[in-house]
Amino acid sequence: MENLRIPGPTPLPEEVLRVMSRQMINHRGPEFGQIVTEVTANLKQLFQTTADVFLLTASGTGALEAAVVNTLSPGDKVLSVSIGVFSERFATIAGQFGAEVIPLRFEWGTAADPDAVRRALNAEPEIKAVLVTHNETSTGVTNDLAAISSVVKEFDKLLLVDAISGLGSIKLPVDEWHIDVAITGSQKGWMAPPGLAMVSVNQQAWQAHEKAKMPRFYWDFTKARSYLEKGQTPWTPSISTIFALSVSLKMMLAEGLANIIARHARIAQATREGVKALGLPLFAEASHASNTVTSVAASNGLDTRKMLKIMREEHQIVLGGGQQKLDGKIFRIGHLGWVSEDDIKAVLTTLKTVLPQAGFGSAS
Ligand SMILES: *Cc1c(COP(=O)(O)O)cnc(C)c1O
Repeated sequence: MENLRIPGPTPLPEEVLRVMSRQMINHRGPEFGQIVTEVTANLKQLFQTTADVFLLTASGTGALEAAVVNTLSPGDKVLSVSIGVFSERFATIAGQFGAEVIPLRFEWGTAADPDAVRRALNAEPEIKAVLVTHNETSTGVTNDLAAISSVVKEFDKLLLVDAISGLGSIKLPVDEWHIDVAITGSQKGWMAPPGLAMVSVNQQAWQAHEKAKMPRFYWDFTKARSYLEKGQTPWTPSISTIFALSVSLKMMLAEGLANIIARHARIAQATREGVKALGLPLFAEASHASNTVTSVAASNGLDTRKMLKIMREEHQIVLGGGQQKLDGKIFRIGHLGWVSEDDIKAVLTTLKTVLPQAGFGSAS
């Protein structure tokens, strides 16, 4: 069996795979109503929120767009706190729909500095919302979201958070940290296949929603709320993915959120130590290294593309490459959702033999 170690999609537990072969049911019927109501309640527990939570049939990016078009109007100024590829994507979406995006960029591999966020908000009082990535999957960096949020809330701005690859795996108490819209995706830490985005919408977000003028149809949160009251979604949902998520959420609640977070921390630590023991430098700054994905800098002659190919073709281990300007410069090991220490041990043991075959050690 393939050892899929990219930062989503992840492998799935047997119980989750089995339920996906279930026959279809009526998405306007009572059984679906029960399932969607229970899934939503379980998500609220794991988001640690009493805000509304919606299931959107989309990949994570769809919910980034939903967050933007439901809370903003063309011409609104938004601060984009950017630390990598996915932060840039969030900003691009806002820009496409007419927001005036003010970028605050940090070097890739580092986290955002909350004091710089404060200076940016001081410099431009008209800013309406702040876009932040919780866990930047492209660089393997987790922002200090608690500190950033407290700055954003000093200024009483709307806070929209791409938590796609962090929520459910890395600490993120949505209510305690005053996240107005938090977004995640089923194929990341949730032990479910791709197909659903999950999004929380709190009171401040609803207030913004009332005045928001960006065009929207499929993504309208008002429609999502009124259908959820009937145990439905506005449009035909990805029923099989919801079946899968209903099972994986039960598994997550049985393990317990604190235990899940601790497992990710432990496995991430073992990954980082193992990588360093191989003689490879970590790419992300140590103080903000992600517990769901480890980014490794190519060094000492390593050809990452060759290494990834040998790992995949000869050892059935699939790792992630670098994205955009990091292509060929880093590789990434995903350790989120359904992952154990043994999965990572297998990666590290195999890397030890493959690295020299891919040029590692050839440079002086
Ligand atoms: C995976 C990911 C996305 C994109 O999600 P899709 O499901 O591929 O649309 C966006 N942001 C972050 C932080 C991610 O990890």
